[in-house]
Amino acid sequence: MQRLATVNCSGPNLLHITFDDGHVSQYDQAFSALQELSMKATFFVTAGWTGKRPGYMTWEQLAELARCGHEVQSHGWSHTLLTRCSVKELQIELSRSKSDLEDHLGAKVNAISLPGGRWNTRVLEACRESGYEQVFTSDPWMVSEDVMGLQIAGRWMVTRNMNAQRIHFLLEGKGATLYLLRARHFAKETAKLVFGDSAYRSLWRMLANKDKSQEDARIASDSARRPQA
Ligand SMILES: [Zn+2]
Repeated sequence: MQRLATVNCSGPNLLHITFDDGHVSQYDQAFSALQELSMKATFFVTAGWTGKRPGYMTWEQLAELARCGHEVQSHGWSHTLLTRCSVKELQIELSRSKSDLEDHLGAKVNAISLPGGRWNTRVLEACRESGYEQVFTSDPWMVSEDVMGLQIAGRWMVTRNMNAQRIHFLLEGKGATLYLLRARHFAKETAKLVFGDSAYRSLWRMLANKDKSQEDARIASDSARRPQA
């Protein structure tokens, strides 16, 4: 975190730190670390889980994040992969999550992080029609660009298995780390195509010994920096 803070101070709005899903560990652990280093982040929360699903943040906790200057934005209503949604389901995932967050927190919601990083042109159209302006993917190579009236941004995923040196290389944008992460991302995407989503997720959890309740932070790629206020 200290390294992130150093990089963040080295230029205006250099990094954009984001967290997905709204797991309570983000409030219990990341929030205090961010405050200590005077850093701001965006928390993309699954609105339908808020205050209901054990292990996820409450509305009060989200309101505290917002009061302290962090952004709370949408990660859909139920974490359903948007590429699999019908028109009606897309409406619920996108519009209901947006309005629920806005009603509870009293702040405009104009950005969404796509569950599972899945997207296509139909999903982007629905995002735009639902009033979103920014869409965050999980594609590490993607530069921030305007597509179909939306600002689309890729992100680098930081996991608990990454040591400080690896994160350092990632932030510096050099070394084999970038190539390794890109290669890993392409391998994962290929596996999804070959095995299908369900089989892929089972396989991935088994290999990574991933605890479903643990979440990963993401750092937007260099070109997906926090927009100027
Ligand atoms: Zn998620």
